[in-house]
Formats: sequence, structure tokens, C-alpha cells
Amino acid sequence: MSQNNYLDWTEEQWRAKLSPEEYAVLREAGTERPGIGEYTNTTTEGVYSCRACGAELFRSTEKFDSHCGWPSFFSPLAGDSIIEREDRSLGMVRTEVLCATCHSHLGHVFAGEGYNTPTDLRYCINSISLTLEEKPIEG
Ligand SMILES: [Zn+2]
Repeated sequence: MSQNNYLDWTEEQWRAKLSPEEYAVLREAGTERPGIGEYTNTTTEGVYSCRACGAELFRSTEKFDSHCGWPSFFSPLAGDSIIEREDRSLGMVRTEVLCATCHSHLGHVFAGEGYNTPTDLRYCINSISLTLEEKPIEG
């Protein structure tokens, strides 16, 4: 286990670790433009980790093709790997998805859109918030 307590990191530490583009999304809750993210259409088998802290967040087995322009998952790897909180920015009520380990911004989750998935949830996550590690998924 890492000795880092990411919740104690300062803005300066995050700026040193992350690129300006990563910082704008992960630490300032930005959104990358649709369709440009490196993992939007990725079907490679593996585990997606938080690009800020490395915590494992999502698996390729829960990724689905939502045609929304961002990587979409119908379930996180484990319920306690992420935090969901109400986001009233931009004049909308949405549910923001944060990394539970470092509280970096990942994206938003939408419910009840009618996707043919086990949960009918769409975790709409910025590619730049994730790092994919290719490896076989058990079960
Ligand atoms: Zn994190």
C-alpha cells in the first residue's frame, strides 16, 4: 500500500504530477470533448485505474458502447472505489463520480436511459481520468 494520503495533497503537488490537461479534468472537474478520448471505443481487456492516484476503478467487462463519445461503464469495479455526489453546475442536476481514494473528478453517472445493460446506469468517464492496464479479467 502507498504511504501517500492523496487527500492531503496540495494544488502544487497535483500540478507537478499531472499534465495541464489531466489537471483541468481531474482536479477542476472539467470535461474532455466528446469523441477525442483515447479510451472512447477501446475494447481491450483490462482494468481502468485512476490516472491521478492509481486506484483500480472500472473493468473492461463492464464497459459498453453507449455512442455518447466518452468511455461508458454500467458498473464500477467495486462500489467503494468511487464516490457519487450531487452536481448542480451548468444549471443541471447531475451525479458526479469521484475517485474515493484521491477525490479526483472522473465524470458523471446517469440512470434510466434505457441502455440494454444489467444496471441501466451509464458511468460516463473522461478517458483522461483513467489509465488502462491490459490484463485478463477473471470470470
Ligand atoms: Zn484517484
